[in-house]
Amino acid sequence: MKNMYDVIVIGLGIMGASALWRVALKCNRVLGIDTSGPTHRHGSSQGESRIFRRAYWEGDKYLPLLNHANLLWNELEQSIMTQLLYRTGGLFIGSRSSQIIAGSIHTARQGKATLSMRYGTVQQLSKTFRHLKSSMACKRYSSLTHTR
Ligand SMILES: Cc1cc2nc3c(=O)[nH]c(=O)nc-3n(C[C@H](O)[C@H](O)[C@H](O)COP(=O)(O)OP(=O)(O)OC[C@H]3O[C@@H](n4cnc5c(N)ncnc54)[C@H](O)[C@@H]3O)c2cc1C
Repeated sequence: MKNMYDVIVIGLGIMGASALWRVALKCNRVLGIDTSGPTHRHGSSQGESRIFRRAYWEGDKYLPLLNHANLLWNELEQSIMTQLLYRTGGLFIGSRSSQIIAGSIHTARQGKATLSMRYGTVQQLSKTFRHLKSSMACKRYSSLTHTR
């Protein structure tokens, strides 16, 4: 009995660790196994920082998943009383017709209950993002979206 577990998760990157966290809430005996760790630099989840974003040009079909993940990040932060995410908003720069701009506008519109978005020319948005004014690279682009 000593070595019996309800669930064993092998590999504790973001996927395994998240799965283990959720099953640990429901099962009495869970075990996580990793070749390294608990913190190390050999997986793709590990490193100095990672981005979690809901400014999502890839498609609005991901919105329910992203919103749910956002709630879980909140829950995790509260349960360990530690800030893990630094919520900054997302800024995309590109031409109006590019997939990244058109897609992020579309997703933000579909998710307007939970996301806010601004769209404008570089000249307009450089009033908020002042450092863009001096960026030569930005002169080539005509539009930005900012999603929060
Ligand atoms: C450099 C880099 C940066 C990235 N940045 C981002 C980002 O900012 N935002 C984002 O959303 N995605 C990012 N990604 C993608 C994201 O990191 C991966 O999609 C995600 O981390 C995959 O998680 P995972 O748990 O499946 O794998 P991993 O994080 O790789 O975890 C696998 C775990 O399994 C363990 N393991 C491996 N073999 C064994 C074994 N035989 N026995 C036991 N344990 C084992 C490893 O030690 C590791 O801990 C980035 C990827 C890379 C490579």
